[in-house]
Amino acid sequence: MPRLIADRPILRMTSELGKVMAAARARELAGERILHLERGEPDFDTPAHIVEALCAAARGGDTHYPDQRGVMALREALVEKLSRENGIRCEPDDIVVTNGGTHGLFLVFQSLLAAGDEVLVLSPHWMAIPKLVGFVHGSSYRSLPAYLDLLEGSLDPAGFKARLEQAIAPATRGIYLNTPNNPTGAVLTREQLMAIVEVAVARDLWVVSDEAYEHLLFDGATHVSIASLPGMAERTVSVFTLSKSYAMTGWRAGYVVSPPALRPVMGPLLAFYTTHGVFPSVQRAALAAVTGPQNDVEHMRRAYEERRDLLLEGLEASTAVSVPRPRGAFYAFADVSAALQGRDIWALVDEWLGFGVAVLPGTAFGPEFGDRVRLSLATRREDVAEAASLIRHRTATAGVR
Ligand code: PMP
Repeated sequence: MPRLIADRPILRMTSELGKVMAAARARELAGERILHLERGEPDFDTPAHIVEALCAAARGGDTHYPDQRGVMALREALVEKLSRENGIRCEPDDIVVTNGGTHGLFLVFQSLLAAGDEVLVLSPHWMAIPKLVGFVHGSSYRSLPAYLDLLEGSLDPAGFKARLEQAIAPATRGIYLNTPNNPTGAVLTREQLMAIVEVAVARDLWVVSDEAYEHLLFDGATHVSIASLPGMAERTVSVFTLSKSYAMTGWRAGYVVSPPALRPVMGPLLAFYTTHGVFPSVQRAALAAVTGPQNDVEHMRRAYEERRDLLLEGLEASTAVSVPRPRGAFYAFADVSAALQGRDIWALVDEWLGFGVAVLPGTAFGPEFGDRVRLSLATRREDVAEAASLIRHRTATAGVR
């Protein structure tokens, strides 16, 4: 038998989400009822006008190999959107339409990293990042806790800058940033972002800016794209997706905006030889999403904010679980240290599954977060409220905060 899986550590990595979903499924098959707070999957349907645009384009014959960089009409609309909403000035050739943000990030790390290089990943971070970095053989990532302290106000911009400076090593090539943040709901302010800007410029680093949740903002928070800040356009690659803003997770539609220096690599090489672009009818639908009415985006944003409030209210009186107030995205990163009572985080995740609530262990988001769980708000409001009530009552004996 030939060796079918190469001897590379990345190919032995497992998925915490997969593990929790399988355990939840097994319980459901055994007749138990599970509230799903583990997945980041909007429960809304894709708005009808976007679906219609796909159907019309496919019927019209938009079914052939696309320009690997993306349909020009869509890239032109994105140039306009990026200028208006994000303060990013670019040309259509600086944009590559990708099969979702995940594929966009894959291309970005393939382009920026070589063996021996390291990315500083602000954490807690989305769980795909170690894999996407690791697919570049010989490169590595290092987690730098930041979002919780920034969200809770215990780290000022000067302290944040000092923390970044201390963390940079000779192999560090760049920083991965994600605001609004999955899983904490932190939304970095201009002042907080300036700490990254100053360090990136002084140390000549690139920044990968993952803006998957740019439209999901609460309490009047505003989203700032780091590429729009002084000195950053030439060193920032920004990654966007339609998945969350438009409830389009299954469509696989996203885009990457890079400095012009990356033009020969992003489209003609990486997009071309990984997927040869995105289904052109999906791109027509993406065009309808970006240029059409935005009231569905606001409707969904408001629903997530309402669920955030329900979750916070439901857990306010909890003695065992404390939730820093998310200001964006659709997750909460709860501190469960008082409920752990010396146990491993997986023991707690199993216990909560036992009373019907599926969540992800904090360790999925960085090794430092073994006393946290992520609760997703991308599930029905009734389920969020019921889950909060179950958690509060079932952990009530777990000590005083
Ligand atoms: N970035 C972050 C922070 C995410 O949470 C996700 C999806 N969960 C993505 C990127 C990618 O999403 P998609 O591939 O669906 O565009």
